[in-house]
Amino acid sequence: MTEFFRLPPSGIKVIIVGTGFGGLCAAIECNRKGHDVILLEKVAELKPLGDIISFSSNSGHIFERWEGVVEKLEPIIHHSDGLSFHDWKGNFATKQVWGDEKQWGRRINGHRGEIQLTVFEHAKARGIDIRLGQRVTEYFETDTEAGVIVNGERLTADCVFAGEGVKSAGRKIVLGFEDRPKPSGYAVYRAWMSSEELAKNERTKHLVNNGDSHSGWIGEDKHFLAAAIKNGKEFSWVLTHKDDADIDEDWQFPGDKEEVKRNLEGWSPVVHDIVDLTPPDKLVDYKLVFRDPLPTFISPKARIALIGDAAHPFLPTSIQGASQSMEDGVTLAITLEKSGKDNVPRAIRAYEAIRYERVHRAQMTGVTTREQWHKADWDKIWKDVKSLHLKREAWLLDFDAETHAYEVVDDVLKKLDKGVTVKTDSLSEPTPAATNGIQAQLAQEIDQLA
Ligand SMILES: Cc1cc2nc3c(=O)[nH]c(=O)nc-3n(C[C@H](O)[C@H](O)[C@H](O)COP(=O)(O)OP(=O)(O)OC[C@H]3O[C@@H](n4cnc5c(N)ncnc54)[C@H](O)[C@@H]3O)c2cc1C
Repeated sequence: MTEFFRLPPSGIKVIIVGTGFGGLCAAIECNRKGHDVILLEKVAELKPLGDIISFSSNSGHIFERWEGVVEKLEPIIHHSDGLSFHDWKGNFATKQVWGDEKQWGRRINGHRGEIQLTVFEHAKARGIDIRLGQRVTEYFETDTEAGVIVNGERLTADCVFAGEGVKSAGRKIVLGFEDRPKPSGYAVYRAWMSSEELAKNERTKHLVNNGDSHSGWIGEDKHFLAAAIKNGKEFSWVLTHKDDADIDEDWQFPGDKEEVKRNLEGWSPVVHDIVDLTPPDKLVDYKLVFRDPLPTFISPKARIALIGDAAHPFLPTSIQGASQSMEDGVTLAITLEKSGKDNVPRAIRAYEAIRYERVHRAQMTGVTTREQWHKADWDKIWKDVKSLHLKREAWLLDFDAETHAYEVVDDVLKKLDKGVTVKTDSLSEPTPAATNGIQAQLAQEIDQLA
């Protein structure tokens, strides 16, 4: 039987809402640090839904601490050495190789549902109290406890983490009003399928017949990314494009191949063949919504914390949403460990202080990457093809949330005890101006998207 690392019981009771990567990671990390967790999820059964998701080295460290998880993921994740870029017509431009990044940690790219189920099974094996089919409808807090109404029942704990994604009901108690999701101005067509037909096609077989591969085609206001996985046996592609549909919520529905091909007029025959060979029932049209950045992630009495997309929705182009949601849980588990049961609000405030600036900086990279590709001036790019490369920044990726939280938590708690408002991960003097600057810049960038 696997022995799991666990600190002695802290006596702290935590309710966590949502079994996305935010909620699952928070549950596992709280369990590791000795806290008692109830994890609530509205769906009755977790199914391996979705398609490709990428975790960078910053979350690789987190997976690695969970006994046996990386070993289970290894056979099902993507294993290419780099990303080959082409222009939209199909001319090869450059290959970005990940070799140098290996020293930063492990990258994990694969099927969202398969990775999530592996993590879910790990949480179950740890004996975490996971309750499926539990829809949370309300949050509340007092000076001494916090809780939720779930399926009509009142549950209480020392604190609650709201990790129900972009449509979070927990935002209401933090904001004091209900905010609306806003269209991002973009949508994605996505597919995950068997590679069998691609392997028989002259123009696409090179993508799947030599093991895993990763390729991108970049054009004005659009990019098309494709990955072969499981030694080339399965294939996933994503087309990000402008979309001005007026939507209320995140939504997805079956995609229309003819519409996808209209979007790709004048593009490489390779991408057209990929679309043609996609089984219609595997194609999804997914509208991307966003929310304005929040001034805070925590409730007025600091017993409820928003985590993951509930606190900070991410554009897929940042390739960081899931990783950042995991960093939230790691940090909270440690601030609770260091503050103790009698000082839970102090821990929740420290979580926000440690995470706020970093997560907003990470959010901005999604806009930057997309604009870098969609507004590419190809005359310039052919003179400097590496300008297409994804920016892989050490501050973001060469980072271990656990090490960082342990390094800064005492200092943050001391500052909070002195009544200093801290919202920075740099731990320089409190930087309200810098923080407001980031928030304003992000809001402006998001406005420009629509
Ligand atoms: C198209 C697309 C591609 C992406 N690609 C990447 C990528 O490659 N890499 C990356 O890092 N990020 C990516 N992201 C972002 C990433 O998916 C999210 O940032 C991340 O999954 C957020 O996790 P979460 O746990 O906060 O929320 P979610 O994954 O949304 O999970 C929320 C959970 O809460 C449950 N829930 C909701 N309401 C309730 C309720 N009332 N009661 C109980 N349970 C509830 C839901 O059923 C769900 O299980 C992508 C996003 C999109 C839209």
